[in-house]
Amino acid sequence: MKSLYRSNPVVLTLTASLFFVLAYNASFWSKFIAVTGGFSLSNAPLYAASFLILVLMLNALLTLVTFRFLFRPVLTLMFCVTALAAYFMSQYGTVIDSTMVQSVIETNPREATDLFNSRMLLYFLLLGVVPSAVIWRIKINLPSLSRDLFVRLGVIVLSLLSAGGLTLAYYKHFAPMFREHRELQFMLTPVNYIWATNSYLKRKMGRAATVAPIGMDAVKGAYWKDQTRRTVTVIVLGETARAKNFSLNGYARNTNPELSKQSGLINFTNVQSCGTATAVSVPCLFSSLGRSNYSESKAKSQQGLLDVISHAGMDVLWRNNNSGCKGVCDRVPYEDMSKPVAGSPFCNAEECFDEHMLEGLPEKIRASNKDMVIVLHQQGSHGPTYWKRYPEKFRQFAPECATSDLQKCTTDDIVNTYDNTILYTDHFISQTIDMLRQMEREDQIDVSLMYFSDHGESLGENGMYLHGAPYMFSPIEQRHVPMVVWLSDNFRKRFRLDTACVVARTEQAFSHDNVFHSVLGMLNINTAVRNPSLDLFQACTPAGTT
Ligand SMILES: [Zn+2]
Repeated sequence: MKSLYRSNPVVLTLTASLFFVLAYNASFWSKFIAVTGGFSLSNAPLYAASFLILVLMLNALLTLVTFRFLFRPVLTLMFCVTALAAYFMSQYGTVIDSTMVQSVIETNPREATDLFNSRMLLYFLLLGVVPSAVIWRIKINLPSLSRDLFVRLGVIVLSLLSAGGLTLAYYKHFAPMFREHRELQFMLTPVNYIWATNSYLKRKMGRAATVAPIGMDAVKGAYWKDQTRRTVTVIVLGETARAKNFSLNGYARNTNPELSKQSGLINFTNVQSCGTATAVSVPCLFSSLGRSNYSESKAKSQQGLLDVISHAGMDVLWRNNNSGCKGVCDRVPYEDMSKPVAGSPFCNAEECFDEHMLEGLPEKIRASNKDMVIVLHQQGSHGPTYWKRYPEKFRQFAPECATSDLQKCTTDDIVNTYDNTILYTDHFISQTIDMLRQMEREDQIDVSLMYFSDHGESLGENGMYLHGAPYMFSPIEQRHVPMVVWLSDNFRKRFRLDTACVVARTEQAFSHDNVFHSVLGMLNINTAVRNPSLDLFQACTPAGTT
């Protein structure tokens, strides 16, 4: 191919740095201008200094990693990845931290293709492919190796010194700004995803090879004595459902037509999630650590709730219609129900609706002769392709937003579509309760159900969509999650649960921290790892008998 132009690495690297700071950072700059009090000419020196600092810092970084033959491959990779990062930040108002990188790396191919659309392709072509093509057509005049090393070292030192000097000169402006608006550092690309990938990899490398047992002392407590009937508890682990859009919590639209008619349903109105992404919330929920002590490596290095239930002699089954259980079901039977099955009324060619997880479940329960805990991990309200999450019958709020390009839809249409997913989740949980009621009658089993969502969702509030915002400045919509408990009369009597007492506590502030201890408490499983003060049923059982 004929070269378009000749240049040397120093000029090219500086040009690429300028291009990155200018072309890919619309989200960063609009936030930056907003936190400096809105655009004003008197701030022009501050804008200019910030711009120069970023270009110089990036120039130092690029000079380091684009050594000789690495120049074109590294820049091509960076143009392409940064184009996608810029797309996600501007499209969904998201920022990029290590949890976001983890969510991207650990997602399944179907979830990834759900995000694909023509606007994303346009970003990829204009900001990824085009600059890459230009780089490959420029002839680079490479100096001798020793001269190249010397020049690069000089460029790095000079860039860092000038950036450092400018930073010092404007330190009074920058220090409070970056302290109060830490999200800015997660918005600056490509630095954000490089830093996030690095900390994600560091976490993965440091992962403990062994898993320490916990709750080996777990035993069934006094209420299990003289047991004549088996017990089955279903935990419905929701996906991306936010409490605000449940009519059970006062939402104006009737999104819970079925659950609101289920007698004995207990709805907790004030529950906070452990994280804002599946990759954090799910392992945290099933660990004994609680949010303040949670880290991925700690959770991975010790057993969790399902192990403790197994130690007490119960059968555990995880049925999955999501991207996996994030390690929490590693030592219990697992069934992947997310792959389409020919002949199922709940699957299409691409995926299965959540009700598919109920198919064959009564038979599974009958086949076990033990007490059971079953987790049903929903696809729920996973976005941005909300319209794919429910069958035709639940297309009740219209018009829908039937594209992953949310910018093409009005907020009302996005909310309509999201509300349809909640309507379907309402139906799914209600169907599960009906199945349990029937089994209680026909199979002489005492039954109960607990539902909670892993995290919430932003639906355009403050320009934010989806979820995964860093917890400390995440909007409430991403943290306030629905939670319901349903106990059959026989279950309630067996475990001496005073439901009027539980109902009186439903408006208290709870969180995912309560789940581990409450499931054990509800099932009267005694172990030193259960913290009674975090068990939301503790106050509602006869004192001293557990
Ligand atoms: Zn999730």
